Amino acid sequence: MTTTMESLIGLVNRIQRACTVLGDYGGADDSVSALPTLWESLPSVAVVGGQSSGKSSVLESIVGRDFLPRGSGIVTRRPLVLQLHKTEDDGQGEYAEFLHIPRRKYSDFAMVRKEIQDETDKITGRTKQISPIPIHLSIYSPNVVNLTLIDLPGLTKVAIEGQPDSIVQDIENMVRSYVEKPNCIILAISPANQDIATSDAIKLAREVDPTGERTFAVLTKLDLMDKGTNAVDVLEGRAYRLQHPWVGVVNRSQADINRNVDMIAARRREREYFASSPDYGHLASKMGSEYLAKLLSKHLEAVIRARIPNITSLINKTIDELESEMDHLGRPIALDAGARLYTILELCRAFDRIFKEHLDGGRPGGDRIYGVFDNQLPAALKKLPFDRHLSINNVKKVVSEADGYQPHLIAPEQGYRRLIEGALNYFRGPAEASVDARISAGGAKVFNYLSRHLSLTNEVFFQVHFVLKELVRKSLNETQELKRFPTLTAELATAANEALERFREDSRKTTLRLVEMESSYLTVDFFRKLPQEVENKPGNPAAPTVDRFSEGHFRRIGLNVSSYVAMVSETLRNNIPKSVVYCQVREAKRSLLDIFYTQIGRKEGKQLGQMLDEDPALMERRLQCAKRLELYKSARDEIDSVSWAR
Ligand code: GDP
Ligand code: MG
Repeated sequence: MTTTMESLIGLVNRIQRACTVLGDYGGADDSVSALPTLWESLPSVAVVGGQSSGKSSVLESIVGRDFLPRGSGIVTRRPLVLQLHKTEDDGQGEYAEFLHIPRRKYSDFAMVRKEIQDETDKITGRTKQISPIPIHLSIYSPNVVNLTLIDLPGLTKVAIEGQPDSIVQDIENMVRSYVEKPNCIILAISPANQDIATSDAIKLAREVDPTGERTFAVLTKLDLMDKGTNAVDVLEGRAYRLQHPWVGVVNRSQADINRNVDMIAARRREREYFASSPDYGHLASKMGSEYLAKLLSKHLEAVIRARIPNITSLINKTIDELESEMDHLGRPIALDAGARLYTILELCRAFDRIFKEHLDGGRPGGDRIYGVFDNQLPAALKKLPFDRHLSINNVKKVVSEADGYQPHLIAPEQGYRRLIEGALNYFRGPAEASVDARISAGGAKVFNYLSRHLSLTNEVFFQVHFVLKELVRKSLNETQELKRFPTLTAELATAANEALERFREDSRKTTLRLVEMESSYLTVDFFRKLPQEVENKPGNPAAPTVDRFSEGHFRRIGLNVSSYVAMVSETLRNNIPKSVVYCQVREAKRSLLDIFYTQIGRKEGKQLGQMLDEDPALMERRLQCAKRLELYKSARDEIDSVSWAR
């Protein structure tokens, strides 16, 4: 039975210490407020009461040693987590250990008191400020029971000299933050020489624990009550009823302390006081510090036992949550250049993979490129103003100008060429066309038209360029691994967009070349297959009377040029997508990051580190999560190690 009790309370002691080491005070630390807290799920005993109500005295007599700083005013300014460990009487004697000074054993308890003072000042300064970060003190002794007690600053009513006005509220808030936890056992200290109705401890306890199931009320200073009065009504639960019975204690008076009355003597005197008291004699077995210590220990053990299954499942659930958050945050980055380069390349590959999936159809968006070819390209081709260019008047004009002083005899070879050239000019972009436009017939018109409208070719490869750019943006966004590296993400975006612009430029040139090719050599076959001028075809009734320079003649020329242009247009409609895919899409898939790769290959470890700059908030979060995860895992191990004892 003892083994079980010791191992259960010892278990909680160890987990509590791990909590403090790993920064889990359970309090509302804003920066890490979203982190799960284990501290708050662990049972503990917190001592609350007004200043000078006897809190320190009660703690000391439970421990049986003098070790707490004392003095008037606010002495306890940080929570003191006091863990009592019962040891076998192995000659080691009693000693204390602070969590913040590992492996130093204090056997001089006056030094313990001094260290508590120094450590308090370290955090709060020498001001009379308070801090919620607890000091952990373990006491190993054969004379204690296993118990964890938390000493808290005393509740006050007014700020004294040197304290900020907020101190009254600050203390109450801190105390409340401990006692309002459902796992906190409240040791409410009230002095017997004051009216119970004015007790700060009872007031706060009733607020946070209305049913009183976790409140243990202690009445101190029984010896200081006015002659002729006693506290039997309170101690027997008639004055103020609580679920657990009241425990009365008699601590050392200030005079005793000044006279160095030691704890052993004080305890003996307390026993004698109750045993011989005419008022409390009948309650003697349930009074005094020793009884209080045992009562608390037993209760704490029962509470822990009842809580273990909950705590275990909470721990397991939290470990899962923290691990998945850690996965999401990504592992910390290595420090050497090689590992950094590797990380960057991995990230690039992850992005590239997603980008390719968009193009190849595993993810949406690539289909929009086909949309450009299927809709925008034919629409743009249709918009070209061939009708105007091949109107009878313009045909007549161009042909006559080409003929010069000598009109053509059979077919207007030059006229045809000029008309076709003029038409094909519409397939080019404004910049390209503008050079020729100045010299070609009707050039001004072409130039004006092209300046006003985006050229056909531009339209296609700009559209494809925009689609690709959008896919890069999307892919960067969808690369979860990149989320933590804003700098690298930005550099990747720049590199990818620069590459896309190079591809677009290449595509523009290649597409233009297709158009140039169409204008530099006309398909001979097409003209061979044209029906000959009618007068050469005997049997045609209209033939002999045909006037070579009639409207019909020019209309035929216009129609012939128009159907030639239609054929070229069809060819381009088929070939432009090929050239655009070849230059832009295929290259984007194959070598989007090639230049980027050669650039980072030349970088130093430090520069690579800068590229892997993370959001500082995220780095902090990862650190906090890692610590918390370590805490929960060690707690799980602790629980596993004692479960056999249950
Ligand atoms: P705290 O401020 O609540 O920690 O109170 P302390 O434990 O420091 O006690 C305040 C003063 O009351 C000290 O001078 C103690 O000696 C004295 N005191 C505490 N408990 C008793 C008691 O039961 N009897 C007597 N006579 N004095 C006590
Ligand atoms: Mg005190």
